[in-house]
Amino acid sequence: SDTISELAASIRSIPDYPKPGIIFRDITTLLGNPRAFRRAVDELVQPYAGLKIDKIAGTEARGFILGGAVAHQLSAGFVPIRKKGKLPRDTVRVAYSLEYGVDEMEMHLDAVQPGEKVILVDDLIATGGTAVAATQLLRQMGAEVVSACFVIDLPDLGGRRKLEELGVDVRTLVE
Ligand code: 5GP
Repeated sequence: SDTISELAASIRSIPDYPKPGIIFRDITTLLGNPRAFRRAVDELVQPYAGLKIDKIAGTEARGFILGGAVAHQLSAGFVPIRKKGKLPRDTVRVAYSLEYGVDEMEMHLDAVQPGEKVILVDDLIATGGTAVAATQLLRQMGAEVVSACFVIDLPDLGGRRKLEELGVDVRTLVE
């Protein structure tokens, strides 16, 4: 559609970042474009209209920007899932593999309650390592991961399928 091609056009591709052979999809140009930012958030939210969602979980750092806006539109709370060592209280932690390495992420132990309905938000899904780990954290604390949404899917890297195999409904806007 026009909206989706406008969104795609607002995303900048940076060759050889963060290392040779990788094309980085830079969404700062989407975020800096008032129309594109609003449309991206509207499109992310649209499938969930009318659902009662307790929390949006966003992964550091671009998931905070989009997730905060999505949480506002759905009148949901926001839960930050962060790189290790950044959260001040007791956390649950998980190791995960990135497109470019290995790391650990964590969430406050009391960030979600058992049975709460949560939607995971990030800018992009590549291998799915980040989103699978975030799903594990949320499920470990008893939350129901209702869906996961991303502006960009890199389908060749298989992350979407990996998440779907875990039983997560996945929504993406641009391939
Ligand atoms: P995955 O864990 O699915 O392999 O990688 C997705 C995570 O890495 C997301 O948190 C995403 O923000 C980041 N990421 C990986 N590649 C890119 C990229 O090309 N552009 C952007 N904006 N983020 C990326």
